[in-house]
Amino acid sequence: MAALRLDIVTPDCVVLSKDVEYVGAPGLLGEFGVLPGHIPFISALSVGVLHYKREGKSHYVFVSGGFAEVSEDTVTVLAESAEQAHQIDFSRAEEARKRAQARLDAKNEDHDFKRASFALARSVSRLSLRGRD
Ligand code: ATP
Repeated sequence: MAALRLDIVTPDCVVLSKDVEYVGAPGLLGEFGVLPGHIPFISALSVGVLHYKREGKSHYVFVSGGFAEVSEDTVTVLAESAEQAHQIDFSRAEEARKRAQARLDAKNEDHDFKRASFALARSVSRLSLRGRD
């Protein structure tokens, strides 16, 4: 089967660079899927889970913001942060979730609710990958 090149890059490192068969990504306007030969486009990404298939097997990557650029046979993701499921520290994500939830529950006007909401979304997305590859 024809291959897609998937590159996921953050300011810190190259998280992944692999030939894959399919990519599903959390676009700002909804999930989108890419097979080899796709028409070129660029999409902003929301906080969520990118999914790719390689040798028929599904793999999952947390992505936080950024962009995906799709051409006929490449998908390049530039994200603020990204981790493959097996790289996620779930205790850390659970602590981040509790912190963000406490900030939202406190309804303290000094707290930045938008920031806490995004932190909650990041932690919940990371936690959703527990047990995934
Ligand atoms: P925290 O409050 O735990 O730092 P955060 O959502 O604010 O979480 P980010 O700003 O998304 O963290 O990421 C900062 C850096 O830490 C990035 O390099 C990211 O990959 C890494 N990171 C954050 N949380 C985790 C986690 N649970 N497991 C692995 N790496 C993480």
